Amino acid sequence: MALHFSDASADFKRRERQVWCISAALVPWRRAFKLHGATHEKAPPHDLSEEDVVFVWSYKGHTGPEHWAEHYPSCGGQSQSPIELFNRPPMKEWNPFQFYYYYVTPTSVTVTNTGDSVMVTMDMPNRPYVLGGNLDGAYEFVQLHFHWGSNNTVGSEHTIQHNRYPCEVHLVHYKKIYNDTATAILYEDGLAVLGVMFTISEEDNPALAGLITGLASVTQPGQAITIQPFPLSTFLPNKRKKFYRYQGSLTTPPCNEVVVWTVFKNKLKISATQLAAFRNLKFTNGHSMVDNYRPLQPLGTRQDVGLEQAKWEHEAHLEWMKLELEMAKTEEAREQEHAKIEQAKTELAREQARIEKAREQAREQAKLE
Ligand SMILES: [Zn+2]
Repeated sequence: MALHFSDASADFKRRERQVWCISAALVPWRRAFKLHGATHEKAPPHDLSEEDVVFVWSYKGHTGPEHWAEHYPSCGGQSQSPIELFNRPPMKEWNPFQFYYYYVTPTSVTVTNTGDSVMVTMDMPNRPYVLGGNLDGAYEFVQLHFHWGSNNTVGSEHTIQHNRYPCEVHLVHYKKIYNDTATAILYEDGLAVLGVMFTISEEDNPALAGLITGLASVTQPGQAITIQPFPLSTFLPNKRKKFYRYQGSLTTPPCNEVVVWTVFKNKLKISATQLAAFRNLKFTNGHSMVDNYRPLQPLGTRQDVGLEQAKWEHEAHLEWMKLELEMAKTEEAREQEHAKIEQAKTELAREQARIEKAREQAREQAKLE
């Protein structure tokens, strides 16, 4: 790569580029669009060569994980993800998780092929956020995406007790006090990702039906489709008391070490047929989208990583669910009420106009007589 400035300027450009790449990576459709030549998203700093800015990383070969650090230095860092997770007696009792708006059905749900995964985003008036679980503050949901294998023995990024699962979902959240994702990724506690493993079930998981059907419409990178909305709670395991916690990174370039990781011990279910639908997607390089998981990274100094346990399961989440549904219902009722009032107002105005007209006619008539 050729840079034509002084060292300081080059360093600035490098940082500027890195920030751009990070935001592009976190909003993967930007990258997907960019790769496909669209120009309506923010362009990279113009005086860097296209080749320099767009290193099209992959999971295999000369652009695979062992080469990521050549283009994204953070990928060679000391606190990288994923890692092997293991059981040990919990060190302390942790705060229970509290999930807000995870049970409310969004206004719309979009599925996007990002070129390296399939991403789900949600539109809703109140965005879901998570508290507790010893997270330092509230983290708001941004997107979720999946990692899966070419067969049912591989696919997950993390391993638990040396077991690799056929699929792992990542629910990405940013820390609310940082206001947006672009700012959050400048801080080591900027993101909280909740990871959940899938195991293979005999029966289809009905909660995944809409998503699985949607996959058929987004086989090519950059394609997106809105699907039948489902609540975010679809991707939480039933029990959230036991989990693994550690400080790590994004598992894709630019691999920033800004993630507070939580991987739940309890798993979700997916049938072999449902999982097979993921394998029909295509990577940016045109190959079948399979084995989109990064190899395990060294633990380094993170020696205290292991199974953790919350003091108690937040039974209250069921209460919240009811409350949120009530709120949604109340909202709906209020809207209907409002519509009724508006309609009554319109009718009243029409009636008044009719009366006024009749009076007018009566006055005209009186004049004539
Ligand atoms: Zn991921």
